[in-house]
Amino acid sequence: MDQIARKLAASITGAVRTKEPLCRHTSFKIGGPADLFVEPATIEELAFTLACLRQAGVEWFLLGNGTNLLVHDAGFRGAVIRLAGDFRRYEFDGLIVRAGAAVSLAHLARETGRRGYAGLAFAAGIPGTVGGALATNAGAHGVAFGDVVADAQIMDESGELHTCLPETLGLAYRKSNISPAHVVCAVTLQLSAGDREELERQCRDDFLFRRKHQPHQPNAGSIFKNPPGDVAGRLIEAAGLKGCRVGGAVISAVHANFIVNDGQATAADVMALIDKARAEVAGKFGIELELEICLLGY
Ligand SMILES: Cc1cc2nc3c(=O)[nH]c(=O)nc-3n(C[C@H](O)[C@H](O)[C@H](O)COP(=O)(O)OP(=O)(O)OC[C@H]3O[C@@H](n4cnc5c(N)ncnc54)[C@H](O)[C@@H]3O)c2cc1C
Repeated sequence: MDQIARKLAASITGAVRTKEPLCRHTSFKIGGPADLFVEPATIEELAFTLACLRQAGVEWFLLGNGTNLLVHDAGFRGAVIRLAGDFRRYEFDGLIVRAGAAVSLAHLARETGRRGYAGLAFAAGIPGTVGGALATNAGAHGVAFGDVVADAQIMDESGELHTCLPETLGLAYRKSNISPAHVVCAVTLQLSAGDREELERQCRDDFLFRRKHQPHQPNAGSIFKNPPGDVAGRLIEAAGLKGCRVGGAVISAVHANFIVNDGQATAADVMALIDKARAEVAGKFGIELELEICLLGY
């Protein structure tokens, strides 16, 4: 791995590190080291990175803000790629915004609101990146990211770029068909004319709602998807699991579909709570809960 790290460090402007603790890059503040951590700053650097890793037969994972992710305590035997530099830029062309995949979704939502452009206010409290939002089809208040996407620029494993229309991306409730071997590089959003004050009020209300109804300790958002016709948090609460603890991980007393890290939690603690919630909900209600968070290193 040291040899690939040296080759990449000599050729790209972004950071290249070995044995990078992934707890530094997840909202859970949990996760062991990645063998290699690379931050390509341009499309060319990304293509070069993918080519190097392919040649060396190294597995890789594309990390956004790590806000929907549980990383194993042993970390990841491969390379974690986090987009930087050019991928953090966005530009407006009237009601169209073209955003790099590493742009903060919440920042972009607030910026569009400030300009009086409607469509993204639902996302003002979602702490991920634009790329992560497309890959997971993030959403809130009945609106999903895919609803405002005009097209997306996606790099395949051979470094080739494709412009994809949303209808080809299999966007559905918290999922897409974007392959883990593909990288969302940029997304074009089509917004509509709105009322600036109203949009800013929606962003503020969302912030206040989340402050009241979501926990403040490190977490990864909703652990499970809502099953058809029901709500995962309601089922977990009805199973009597609010406040249930394993090690440093606790099923939040504020919202039962959140697991929080009290400061000492391991991924194993979180996984034990996930297994317990699934077993209790299946046993009591006959409903199989499906994970909303992504796993790395499992
Ligand atoms: C407090 C809190 C509140 C939240 N509220 C919501 C909410 O209301 N609604 C909601 O939907 N989610 C919510 N989330 C979850 C999370 O913020 C979203 O799922 C977000 O879209 C994940 O983006 P990310 O950049 O952090 O992705 P990561 O967690 O880093 O990665 C998630 C997945 O996306 C893939 N991915 C990331 N970037 C790219 C890319 N450029 N190309 C290809 N694949 C990529 C990763 O490989 C991984 O499979 C919340 C999380 C927290 C911590």
